Amino acid sequence: MHYKSTRNDKLRVTAAQAIAQGISDEGGLFVPESFPAVELSELLELDYIGRAKAILSRYLTDFTEEEIAQCAERAYSAEKFENDTPAKVVSLDAHGENKHILELWHGPTCAFKDMALQILPHLLTKSLKKTADGKTAVILVATSGDTGKAALEGFKDVEGTQMIVFYPENGVSPMQKRQMNTQEGENVCVCAIRGNFDDAQTGVKKIFTDEAVKAELAANGMMFSSANSINWGRLLPQIVYYFSAYLDLVKAGKIALGDAINVVVPTGNFGNILAAYYAKRMGLPVQKFICASNRNNILTDFIRTGVYDKKRAFYTTISPSMDILVSSNLERLLFHLCGEDAEKLTAWMNALSQGGAYTVDADTADAVRTLFYGGCCDDEETVAVIRETFGRDGYLCDTHTAVAVGVYRQYLAETGDNTPTVIASTASPYKFPDSVLDAFDCEKPADGFEEAALLSKLSGTAIPKPIAALQGKPVRFENTCDADDMADFVRRTVGV
Ligand SMILES: *Cc1c(COP(=O)(O)O)cnc(C)c1O
Repeated sequence: MHYKSTRNDKLRVTAAQAIAQGISDEGGLFVPESFPAVELSELLELDYIGRAKAILSRYLTDFTEEEIAQCAERAYSAEKFENDTPAKVVSLDAHGENKHILELWHGPTCAFKDMALQILPHLLTKSLKKTADGKTAVILVATSGDTGKAALEGFKDVEGTQMIVFYPENGVSPMQKRQMNTQEGENVCVCAIRGNFDDAQTGVKKIFTDEAVKAELAANGMMFSSANSINWGRLLPQIVYYFSAYLDLVKAGKIALGDAINVVVPTGNFGNILAAYYAKRMGLPVQKFICASNRNNILTDFIRTGVYDKKRAFYTTISPSMDILVSSNLERLLFHLCGEDAEKLTAWMNALSQGGAYTVDADTADAVRTLFYGGCCDDEETVAVIRETFGRDGYLCDTHTAVAVGVYRQYLAETGDNTPTVIASTASPYKFPDSVLDAFDCEKPADGFEEAALLSKLSGTAIPKPIAALQGKPVRFENTCDADDMADFVRRTVGV
């Protein structure tokens, strides 16, 4: 198995190269040259780790079986994920509906990013051994909240790596900020940016392609690498839980092997939903991908019109991990749907960076619309969905998951399509207690931990251990810088 770039379809690199490098030299994203088929029945009786090994080994053909087993076992062990399975499915099908919540937040940081970021450091250090002998990987992360903490937790004290996380100063929840600023580990560092998530992401992308900085690092035995969701090592592990959820539903008797499902994903950078699309390419019978956005509904517009236009207001919402204007992984989907034509794709991406917009051709727009449904929910609807889902189904969801549930309802009302549906639940409600409490009739305390305690009392659910443990931790990082000074911050931190 080799990988090509979305902006250079002649290029061929190994999986280890793709993972070690993160982004291709000309700015494109690595994609597999083909999608290996898997037999669903073959994975049915395996546990999560077994399913992960089976799927990973089809893509990581330059890794040994033993290496893959080691990565999967270290990442998804019972110490890391509180349940007996890392990705649990909760069926809410009592009212004639056919919805099943895929809880992806039982890892150490209570967000779905753990599913990928617990395994990425192992994939990355093995990839670096194969491709960049002895070099220290400097990993830069731009985060709208959850990635940062999950990356820090995954990489802390991993030998041969150094990590710097940038987040928008006012674009993450107090609990997320606290999670990051109290992070332990000798090789990690956190910095707030005066700007929004896109400023942070653009800044990181700029540093990655800055030849001067790259040369300074190389002279000091270091190289850049990425843990953002553009890294193939992030995307690949996410394919696993869609297969696993489907097979768990088969085993629970909710669907029969071969039945079609729909998938709903609360979407930001388009990584999670793209992994579902990749699962389909490998044989998972997904009929419709329902892409849920908050008030930053650029993807809803794109799916409906074929026009991607980022010249619009950016909103800070109560689902901050989805506050994004440029969804990087959409580039991969468009590459596959436009006939893997790197030239065409490059022209669109250049139009986006130079003019702020692009329009895909009619065939590509049709292909997107056939597979995807786009919808959005504002903050008010999101809170209403949390209230109603708790009242009707007795299920407490976080603000991101609520956006997905809300858009799923719109889809049902519009189409009447009652296909069994897997809704990705991407964070614990306890990461956003302030907003989730708005769904309850109560006086809110000022402190986040008191809010969590109140939420626990009102909902009859338990505070996840990693969140309860934050309370006593000292703050280690209080850095802030302008988006323009990010490169210098990196230089100072790594000492070049
Ligand atoms: C990152 C994140 C998302 C968005 O996922 P993408 O893969 O970037 O589309 C949604 N919800 C939560 C809680 C997240 O942390």
